[in-house]
Parts: sequence; C-alpha cells; structure tokens
Amino acid sequence: MANEELAKQLNESLKDSTPEEILAYFLPKYNDRIALASSLGLEDQVLTAMIAKIKKDARVFTIDTGRLFPECYQLIDRTNDKYDIKIEVYSPEHTGVEKYVRENGVNAFYQSIEKRKACCHCRKIEPLLRALSTLDVWICGLRASQAVTRTNISVVEWDANNGLIKVNPLAKWSEEDVWKYIKENRVPYNKLHDQGFPSIGCQPCTRAIDPGEDIRAGRWWWEDPEHKECGLHKR
Ligand code: SF4
Repeated sequence: MANEELAKQLNESLKDSTPEEILAYFLPKYNDRIALASSLGLEDQVLTAMIAKIKKDARVFTIDTGRLFPECYQLIDRTNDKYDIKIEVYSPEHTGVEKYVRENGVNAFYQSIEKRKACCHCRKIEPLLRALSTLDVWICGLRASQAVTRTNISVVEWDANNGLIKVNPLAKWSEEDVWKYIKENRVPYNKLHDQGFPSIGCQPCTRAIDPGEDIRAGRWWWEDPEHKECGLHKR
C-alpha cells in the first residue's frame, strides 16, 4: 500500500542510489502499477532506455495532446523500434477539448494564464489523471536544477494530489549528466534539441531559446517563470 510514510522511508533509503538502482528497486515490486510518464524529453528518454534494460515490459506512457511537433511522433516510433517496446499513447477525452475550442478558439492559450491552464487541463491533465489512476507509483524525469519551480524535489516523494508515490530517479542529475548518458548509450532523442529547443512541449507553446537563456525560457515564453508549469507536477 502506497502512503506518505512509505515514501519518506524509501526516500531515506534510496536518496543516494543511482537512477538504475532506484528503478531496479521499484519496477519488479510494482509491476503494472508503476509507469514512467514520458514527455519524450531528454530526461524521459534516458529513463526509457534504463527501464527497457531493467524490465522490458515495464509501462511507459506519453500524452498526445493533439498539438505536438511532428518530431515528437517520429520519436515515439524511433524509441519503440530501438528498444522493442510499445509506449502507451493516451489522448485527451474529445468532448473536453471540443468544448474548450468551441468556447475559446483554437489558440486561446495566448490570451491569459487561465485559458492556457484550461487548455493544459483538458489536453494534458485529464489524460494524465486517467493514466495515473491505474498506478501506485509514478516515475518522472524531473531534475532539481531544471527550473525555479523544481528546486526542492526529492528522489522519492508522496504525491498527495494523486495519492501515489512519485519517483524522480534523475532528481540530482545535471543537464551535462543527461547528455553524457544520451551520447554514451545512443539514446534516441528529439531532433529539435539540436535546433535550440532544450525543453519541448506542444508546438504552439514552445519556441527555441538563445544561448544563456534559462532552459525553460522557451516554454510559455509569454508568461512569468513562476507560472510555467502545466499542472502536471503540482506541489
Ligand atoms: S502546452 Fe499549450 S497547446 Fe499544449 S495543452 Fe498546454 S496550452 Fe494547450
């Protein structure tokens, strides 16, 4: 049974373990009640590669918001082919998206934070919650140094909003650690990363950044940094 006390104990015992050791602990223990929620970003590609080596039939899922870059769809195929796996693709429930678009327009996310969050809710959060409802443990590619909103994450934490254990095996990794693993292990990654896109979300809400800019600066670039979460990682 997953609970807050268990998450604390596991964090204490695993906080200095390697990502592979953390995954090797959780994957066989929770079987189909654990999954990586992959955004197809660099960190999640690293975790997918590690997971495929440790337990090939472990669950990896991603969310097709309907507004992704073509390169994201290509990456799903390339990753499945490379590791001989099948990434589960969750789509948003269509009535929610149709209602949002009917009431606000197809690109309403530029108009206000509220409308942007409402779009993220029907296109991302709804399918995410549906996927999470099948789990006891949620694996994420979050890193503490990724954003001002992520500095206090732990390797294992209790997600009170969703009532499950959240595991961040790469919490202590730097961006350099991620790239080193990608290169050494020839992990497939989104080609947009080589074109100035360090963090990739939906196409209309992601732009390339200039050298020296914060790595999340290209996501929802019209908003202040403290608002730049879509609600997937409410803390
Ligand atoms: S990132 Fe943009 S397009 Fe994607 S769900 Fe959020 S607001 Fe909508």
